[in-house]
Amino acid sequence: RADEGLKALGIDLDGEFAELAAEIPVTTDHSRRWGAGVRRLAEAFAALGLDPEPTPKFGDYSRCRRCGRCVLGCPAGAKWDARRLLDEARAKGAKVRTGWTVDSLVTGTRRVAGVRARRGLRHAVFEADVVVLAAGGFGTPAILERSGISCDSRLFVDPVLCVAARLDGARLDREISMPFIIRRDGYIISPYMDWLSFFFHPAWRFPACDIVPLMIKIADEDKGKVGAGGIEKSLTERDRRRLAEGAGICGDILERIGAPRKSHFLGMINAGHPGGALPAGSGPEPFHDRRLPPNVWVADASLIPSALGLPPMLTVMAMAKRVARSL
Ligand SMILES: Cc1cc2nc3c(=O)[nH]c(=O)nc-3n(C[C@H](O)[C@H](O)[C@H](O)COP(=O)(O)OP(=O)(O)OC[C@H]3O[C@@H](n4cnc5c(N)ncnc54)[C@H](O)[C@@H]3O)c2cc1C
Repeated sequence: RADEGLKALGIDLDGEFAELAAEIPVTTDHSRRWGAGVRRLAEAFAALGLDPEPTPKFGDYSRCRRCGRCVLGCPAGAKWDARRLLDEARAKGAKVRTGWTVDSLVTGTRRVAGVRARRGLRHAVFEADVVVLAAGGFGTPAILERSGISCDSRLFVDPVLCVAARLDGARLDREISMPFIIRRDGYIISPYMDWLSFFFHPAWRFPACDIVPLMIKIADEDKGKVGAGGIEKSLTERDRRRLAEGAGICGDILERIGAPRKSHFLGMINAGHPGGALPAGSGPEPFHDRRLPPNVWVADASLIPSALGLPPMLTVMAMAKRVARSL
């Protein structure tokens, strides 16, 4: 749960979070399955006075085979994911069309009449009384801009940088992704096997089983722009300071577990939490921006008012529940 920014706007999602807690198994039980590598890292953080908290996760971790492929899709089915909600919707009569890319809203009058979409060479209009856009922090602003509605230049992405070291036989590649986090002012640190850097960064040339990776994820300044023309996003001075501070802590931890500083290497900066382009506001309809036609709603991370620097999924779902209620 990461809704401080929403609370500051007077938006209380306690009811929605309580519903989610009843519907989705959220657990820290996975901590019983941590291997020696994760436990050693947790001890090193604790010894430096940095309090490692097991990360709450969706799912049933008694099924986890510790294959370390959490972010690539879970072959054991331990992770809960939103396909279960789609199954429920289908059972209640919803038709789910996959593989279609929404291009724009069908505008004309004050209300929209549906969406224009394409699938390969096929083009279609899907008529609708109400349209709920949930194409994510990059996708939704692009659809809106193609429909003549511009969003705010307040894109954030929660940039990520991994600091890693070689330690033979560490086997962090077989661990649950982000088993614990430590929180600092404006960023978190967590063990995280950065497959992107492993496959594409020349410094990550060691066997995966011998790499100890620590991830820094920052709450960045919301100064980016996303629209139909693409994405503009750079790190600001404050973002760089946060990454550098986090990298210093990661260096201390890696040294503490036996990897000398000269053996440390960095990953590629990447990001997976885009949002903020149509932020929730205060007032009677905080999740219905006045730029939107009356029968168009947004229900995704675009609504988050500022970078969280934390996993946002539960908060996105809580906001989506409130939007569903407002339709
Ligand atoms: C590798 C990775 C790991 C992550 N791990 C976690 C985690 O452990 N916990 C956590 O809380 N968060 C995690 N996140 C972040 C989380 O996935 C996102 O914050 C969250 O999914 C955002 O929800 P959303 O509804 O805004 O967008 P999304 O979940 O991205 O959904 C948008 C959907 O719309 C589709 N789409 C986009 N454009 C169009 C279009 N024009 N037409 C039709 N469909 C379109 C996309 O394909 C996508 O399926 C992770 C992200 C990444 C990249």
